[in-house]
Amino acid sequence: MSRTDPLARLTRVLSRLPGIGRRSGERIALRLATGGGGLVGELIEALEELRDRVVLCRACGNLAIRGAEVCDVCADPRRATGVLCVVQDPGALGLVEKSGSFRGRYHVLHGKLSPMRGQGPAQIRAEKLVERVRAEGIREVILALDADTESDATGSYLQDQLRALDVHVFRLGFGLSAGSGIAYLDAVTLMRAMEGRQPIP
Ligand SMILES: [Zn+2]
Repeated sequence: MSRTDPLARLTRVLSRLPGIGRRSGERIALRLATGGGGLVGELIEALEELRDRVVLCRACGNLAIRGAEVCDVCADPRRATGVLCVVQDPGALGLVEKSGSFRGRYHVLHGKLSPMRGQGPAQIRAEKLVERVRAEGIREVILALDADTESDATGSYLQDQLRALDVHVFRLGFGLSAGSGIAYLDAVTLMRAMEGRQPIP
């Protein structure tokens, strides 16, 4: 298959998505190529809508719909002020939401510190977190991060940045074995981890 082949091109693009390797990419591309125009048309429309309508919340970095100032969580007056849950991405935010264990607001980092991949403090919105803690009178920050080396380094860095401020920093209580992510926790375990959060001295 030549590199200009449409099927090969689509396979290459699909293979860059999380959880889709080359083989799955090829299978999806084949399904689209042989499935008639309907599925392709719907996919194109859905992708265009995603590109045109989904933006990042100005306050927390969660996904929001274009035209709204902030995301649904930030716009909800029933959410507790004064407490922030720090997550790596909107996917993790969705999991914490689903567990029903947290009623405050979030701060989405969109990554973790990784010198290897060129991800420094500027890329993970660390300064914005410090700004928010100051400006919004945040008293409690819960770091709901994964349990791998880069996430640990990210947590330590954020903790250092927040040390001078009048804020208590917590990490999830338990439920995460080394090297795993919160995506592997079920809602009940995540709720227990949130309830059993430990203060970081
Ligand atoms: Zn928000």
